Amino acid sequence: MKAMVLNAPKTPLVWTELPDRVPGPGQIRVKVLACGVCRTDLHVYDGELPDPKSPIIPGHEIVGRIDALGAGVTDLKLGERVGIPWLGHTCGVCPYCKAKRENLCDAPLFTGYTRDGGFATATVADARFAFPLGETGDDASLAPLLCAGLIGWRSLKMAGEGKKIGLYGFGAAGHIVAQVATWQGREVFAFTKPGDTGKQDFARSLGVKWAGGSDEAAPELLDAAIIYATVGALVPVALKAVHKGGRVVCAGIHMSDIPSFPYDILWEERSLFSVANLTRADGLEFLGQVPKMEIQVKTTRYPLQKANEALADLRAGRFDGAAVLVP
Ligand SMILES: [Zn+2]
Ligand SMILES: [Zn+2]
Repeated sequence: MKAMVLNAPKTPLVWTELPDRVPGPGQIRVKVLACGVCRTDLHVYDGELPDPKSPIIPGHEIVGRIDALGAGVTDLKLGERVGIPWLGHTCGVCPYCKAKRENLCDAPLFTGYTRDGGFATATVADARFAFPLGETGDDASLAPLLCAGLIGWRSLKMAGEGKKIGLYGFGAAGHIVAQVATWQGREVFAFTKPGDTGKQDFARSLGVKWAGGSDEAAPELLDAAIIYATVGALVPVALKAVHKGGRVVCAGIHMSDIPSFPYDILWEERSLFSVANLTRADGLEFLGQVPKMEIQVKTTRYPLQKANEALADLRAGRFDGAAVLVP
């Protein structure tokens, strides 16, 4: 197999030939068909997350086809198309696992961070954490759903039932969640970097009710706001944008420091949440509804060997939607 390997933080990924891996008990090996590039891959690249596997093959939005089954795998078949998400393994015995909050497991493994991921021609995964994808939809368009879509779904649930939803940051997750929320009959208000009229036009093309810069006020108070941008300064901005009892959800794994803010913007039962990881139940719930939602995932595709270029373009915001590597 071949892979784009991160040997040390902040060094270019290196195209590397590796021995083919054999799936252990309970594992599957997949031939990678497509792998999305997520903001979290940039945090891994930058060394911003604690205790990574190193060297590491990044990538946790994997669409692949099973080409080897480890002992004891009976729920999946050879040749089946599956999705492999960020949550790669949980312990099953800690208090969080037992309470059906496996996203908070005390001893998890995360794909492309603490176990090797999908910036490769093949990968090995725990079969219990792979989602059957069926044959509807093309590989590259499905890949971003495995994290941007899934974490987006979890963050939207956490935002509650309110009708008016603000999205701060309109990248891969934002453009998917905007469509999901609109499909649910909600009104979406998209906030981009100040002055990014290109992203605002893109948001309007997906049917949002309003789009503007994060330095602008929405035309009305919101029921909830979800922050996908990694900018802590947006937390007080979003708190001011929601009405009494409103919710603000921080959906990223990493964020710059949140500046201090006056208590009165949190007062009146506004609440502030963070979203961590996903559960398999989130995945099954979301992916089960995807065919009905008719989400248009906008992708910019790169050959696997151009992973460094894809990461740089993501960092610079050079494309709308999501980047996807195709081996
Ligand atoms: Zn656990
Ligand atoms: Zn991700």
